[in-house]
Amino acid sequence: MKKIIVIPGDGIGQEITASAVEVLRKVDEKFKIGLEYDYRDAGGTSYEKFGTPLTDEALDACKKADGVLFGAVGGKKWDSLPVHLRPEKAIFGLRKGLGLFANLRPTKVYPELINSSPLKKELVDGSDLLIVRELVGGIYFGPRCESETKDGVEQAWDTEIYSVPEIERITKLAFETAKLRRGKVTSVDKANVLAASRLWRKVVNDVAKDFPDVELNHLYVDNAAMQLVLNPKQFDVIVTNNIFGDILSDEASVIGGSIGLMPSASIGELTSLYEPIHGSAPDIAGKGIANPMGTILSAAMLLRYSLKQDDAARAIETAVEKTLADGWRTADIFTDGFKKVGTDEVTEIIIKNI
Ligand code: NAD
Repeated sequence: MKKIIVIPGDGIGQEITASAVEVLRKVDEKFKIGLEYDYRDAGGTSYEKFGTPLTDEALDACKKADGVLFGAVGGKKWDSLPVHLRPEKAIFGLRKGLGLFANLRPTKVYPELINSSPLKKELVDGSDLLIVRELVGGIYFGPRCESETKDGVEQAWDTEIYSVPEIERITKLAFETAKLRRGKVTSVDKANVLAASRLWRKVVNDVAKDFPDVELNHLYVDNAAMQLVLNPKQFDVIVTNNIFGDILSDEASVIGGSIGLMPSASIGELTSLYEPIHGSAPDIAGKGIANPMGTILSAAMLLRYSLKQDDAARAIETAVEKTLADGWRTADIFTDGFKKVGTDEVTEIIIKNI
């Protein structure tokens, strides 16, 4: 049996993870994977029950699992808590505790939703790219100084540090992932200015020698930011450091036109975690109108990357595509002429399409 820990979290997290588990049950029936589920709390929901956004017990259960399916955390109710008790602390606790060193964010433009993209149809039509972001190193974790005075002037500083093993680990993952896709890696850095980027580029070139069937090119981050909106179709897998990946993955996420549809995977040393890119959407929580597709597609990534069940993953992705092609829309992606459905109804339709 393969154990999945489900962490619904707060707000719409409860509704969308329930949908994703129903979909997983259906593919399990079809592909005989042998999935079992165990539930844990995180975020505000955990704080209410246990006085902490993430218990050690929940983290331990995740460490022992084959994969973690996460909804979202956060809500106004907990915004005034001290920082260490806030729901978002659960995410950092899981990242650190599970050693989640890479974040994978696919951006795919569905032909049926192409008009929702803020970019011109002819530019985005057929775009299908994946950003592999280093998640536990670089300037977000390097030494810093909040305030010091030098020559009578206040200053602050942060440090970008990367070691060879850190760059090797993320680069290998990017190349292995590219082999499952269209076989192209674009490494993004700022090697014309930053020393850490020059080491990054050298290590990426070294790792590339072990993957002769994968094409590699390099872009400076400023150019990459432009290319993402000028010609997103040129990209297959983009690999980059923590800060550039943070910015570029948000830029890329709008290309598709709907936040409710975007999945993500955080790959760990022990267990990997899968979640939609959106938050807990307190404004629509409990109304039965949340779009569960981002979470359902995250469950497909769990099948692909943690359980190596590519056919089952593909079955979910195809079912979501057919649901869109047949004109079914949740409120967030609804436009005139289509059929509006709620969370439960769209989940049933996706299940029927598997
Ligand atoms: P959000 O992503 O929750 O919502 C932004 C907007 O998109 C809202 O109008 C919401 O209704 C809509 N939306 C988001 N997901 C949707 C879906 N699946 N279907 C339909 N509509 C959807 O971002 P926010 O409002 O800035 O944050 C709300 C809370 O979520 C905050 O407490 C924030 O800290 C938290 N948050 C959590 C995560 C996470 O758990 N990984 C990520 C981002 C934000």
